[in-house]
Order: sequence, then C-alpha cells, then structure tokens
Amino acid sequence: MIEVLGVHKSFGDNEVLRGVSLEVAAGEVVVVLGPSGSGKSTLLRTINHLEKLDRGFITIDGDLIGYRQRGGKLHELKERDVLKQRRHIGFVFQNFNLFPHLTALQNIAEVAPLADARRFLARVGLADKEDAYPRQLSGGQQQRVAIARALATQPKVVLFDEPTSALDPELVGEVLDVMRDLARSGTTMVVVTHEIGFAREVADRIVFLDQGVIVEQGTPAEVLDNPVHDRTRAFLSKVL
Ligand code: ATP
Ligand code: MG
Repeated sequence: MIEVLGVHKSFGDNEVLRGVSLEVAAGEVVVVLGPSGSGKSTLLRTINHLEKLDRGFITIDGDLIGYRQRGGKLHELKERDVLKQRRHIGFVFQNFNLFPHLTALQNIAEVAPLADARRFLARVGLADKEDAYPRQLSGGQQQRVAIARALATQPKVVLFDEPTSALDPELVGEVLDVMRDLARSGTTMVVVTHEIGFAREVADRIVFLDQGVIVEQGTPAEVLDNPVHDRTRAFLSKVL
C-alpha cells in the first residue's frame, strides 16, 4: 500500500532522514517510536509531501507521491496535483489544526459533502456537537473533530503525529478509543506516539527510528519486550 524507499531528507547540513525504507500493508497499523529529533514528524510529512525528498521515493497504491517520473528523472508535481493526492492521505496533527471560525460540522464540510461530514462526526461520537465552535470544545473533542475531518475524504491511509500529546491526561483516553476503533475497522494507519500502552495493544508493527534511521522493527512483543538494539533498549527504559 505505502512504500517508502531509500528516503533521505536534510535541512541545511542536518541530515534528518538517512535512508528510510518502510512498507505498510493495507489495513496495517504501524506505530513509529523514537527519541525527540529522530525524524518521526519529518518522515510522516514526507508521506503526504509536506516535505520534498532529497533522495528516494514514496508510493501509495503504486502512485508516486509528490513527483512524476519523466525521462528517468523525478519532477515535482504542481501544487494542484499534490492537493489531489493529499485527499487520499489523512493527517492528524498534535495541535488539531481546526479552523476556529467554523463549527465542528463546517470544519469537516470544508473537505467533504455535508452528509459525509455528519456521518464522520457521529463516528467519533460527536453528533450532538455539530454546531459547536472549536473554542467551545475540549481538547479531546477538538482532536476527535480533526480525526473525523481526516477520515471524511475516505483516505487510503491516516497519518497521526502525536495526536494526544497536547491533551490533558484525562482527555487522552477518548482520542485513543477513537483510534482503536479505526484500527479495528481496518483503517491503514501510521501513528507517531509516546503512548506505549496503545502501541502494545493496537500496533501490528512497531518501528523504532533513531537519528534518521530505522534501527529495528517488529511486533509489539518483539520490539517492546525483547529489543535487539542498545538504542531501542535505552529509549524504552526511559518511556516504559
Ligand atoms: P519530536 O519527538 O520532538 O516531535 P521528531 O522525531 O518528530 O521529534 P522532527 O520534527 O522530524 O523530529 O525533526 C528532526 C530534526 O529535523 C530536528 O533536528 C529538527 O530540528 C529538524 N527539522 C525539522 N523540520 C525542520 C525544518 N522545517 N527546518 C529545519 N530543521 C527542521
Ligand atoms: Mg515530531
């Protein structure tokens, strides 16, 4: 479904992704763990072409993301074509990114027909909040609206970048519950999170990224209980 192959990305002389390859199958839930600055957000952002690649390529269902190939070379797509591709890639940010001047329903109706907007708002348990503005919602409710919006274009994959880390602890559970439901219903998901309990329960595979390289990956039992690499062990000893 998603194929990330040999991706390199630098900011100036800071090489943030140093040859990352990752395949995600349809319906699979991949959790990405790693220390701050290891390149997790950058990796997610390359998948919907919020960042250009220096080397390598990314495909979703065989379509090159952000580029087209011509004469053996990759040429960046026009913004309009990038936006079309992004409709197939849901993205949930740490800070919700809702439009403050639009209601919950209007935020979703920006990207999808009204009937779909209502359906997805109900799916995250907020049918009774359709007329509420973001400021009238809790952080957990705002993030659930953001998830509904990410789902409303019926994307092939949903990318989550630390979706609960801006929330008060008592609001984390309701967002993780929604994500757990999505995972169970077969949504293809790539999730950056520090919620190890969620990773253990929901991930089909955990990928440990350190200094721009995938150091190890495997099932939750493999990576969390029997990490092979010292860097994975050192990281887990801090977060478990
Ligand atoms: P965190 O857990 O803190 O969110 P992360 O693993 O998501 O960290 P990234 O945000 O991918 O890390 O950043 C990796 C490195 O790339 C950092 O050194 C960061 O400063 C740098 N970086 C990220 N985005 C940019 C940018 N737009 N311009 C310059 N440097 C950047
Ligand atoms: Mg990050």
